[in-house]
Amino acid sequence: MKTVYVDNNATTKVAPEVLEAMLPYFTELYGNPSSMHFFGGQVQKKVNEAREQVADFLGADPSEIVFTSCGTESDNAAIFGTLDSYPEKRHFVTSRVEHPAVLNVCPYLERKGYRVTQVSVDREGHLDLDELKESLRDETALVSIMYANNETGVIFPIEEIGEMVKSKGIPFHVDAVQAAGKIPLNMKKSTIDMLSISGHKLHAPKGIGVLYIRKGTKFSPYIIGGHQERGRRGGTENVPYIIGLGKACELAKKNLEEENTRVRALRDYLEAKILEKIPNTLVNGDRYNRLPNTLSVSFEYVEGESILLLLSDLGICASSGSACTSGSLEPSHVLRAMGVPFTAAHGSIRFSLSIYNTKEEMDYIIEHLPPIIQKLRDISPFWKDYLKSKIKD
Ligand code: PLP
Repeated sequence: MKTVYVDNNATTKVAPEVLEAMLPYFTELYGNPSSMHFFGGQVQKKVNEAREQVADFLGADPSEIVFTSCGTESDNAAIFGTLDSYPEKRHFVTSRVEHPAVLNVCPYLERKGYRVTQVSVDREGHLDLDELKESLRDETALVSIMYANNETGVIFPIEEIGEMVKSKGIPFHVDAVQAAGKIPLNMKKSTIDMLSISGHKLHAPKGIGVLYIRKGTKFSPYIIGGHQERGRRGGTENVPYIIGLGKACELAKKNLEEENTRVRALRDYLEAKILEKIPNTLVNGDRYNRLPNTLSVSFEYVEGESILLLLSDLGICASSGSACTSGSLEPSHVLRAMGVPFTAAHGSIRFSLSIYNTKEEMDYIIEHLPPIIQKLRDISPFWKDYLKSKIKD
């Protein structure tokens, strides 16, 4: 069966160039970068080069790059590392649509006595900037806002938010896990103090991430151990993965234009055809201010999980905007925060593309999706009720 992989916001394929760069560091070049001998020294040199590649990609200084194990660790480290540096400040601000790597830290902080503000979004997924501004106060220790949403792809006005936050002297962390490789990032011209990225979202392997920490930013190490990462993250470096991430960042910089032209055009083509061929379908989130690879679409009166399973039988890999928890299909927190109607939120599917997708693959989806939706609507009591209500009208 052919595989059409359009779930790149979940994870991406490791680029062949990335794998090739990594391989020698599992076999011949396995030294510890901290060792004094030449065998470790040559590995240290390569780790330094990877740090420079990542710094170049982010418009940062190599000394500002801290390698971590994933995006979740980077987000957690930014939050806990900052709160620990300002023990007298007990207020944390974030949004209602963050990834669980930030979202699920909120109840934990509340249990520890922190006050947490989660700023709302509107129907198109835009952050309420007035609410954000009003929430900032002297006791705010940190503001953490995602650059772009993993489900809808909606991009927040990060520099505008940063100006607001920095004008109050508050540290500013940005989860750029989905934005990296799709939006140009330049920390030299930015208000951002800390920024998280994750390797497996940009064609490096799973299990490697970065926390950018601007020079002069107060930060207490979250993982305490050796002197690695200038004392900001203990633990022997994950050498092959760091080298892979360096290469992936170099490629992502080169491929940024293709992401924003060819991949965007493929996504727009898929979206236009879906809307043309399937009635009662809506796109979730601001269609113009969105990552070039992401399409979140809701098919009214059907369940996302059923669509996914039938797509999967045809080799098409996408994801849904619901989380199957304790037997009930709850629409995702993102779609709920946006106020997407229940009938639509349940039938939401996310297609997320990469530079490895082709027009033929989009045509394959377009050929098979409409009959799947029709088949599910034919057995949906909600769809039947809807049709009856239309006849009455
Ligand atoms: N932040 C965002 C916006 C994400 O989409 C993800 C992963 O989906 C993460 C953080 C977590 O990254 P990781 O899987 O590397 O822990």
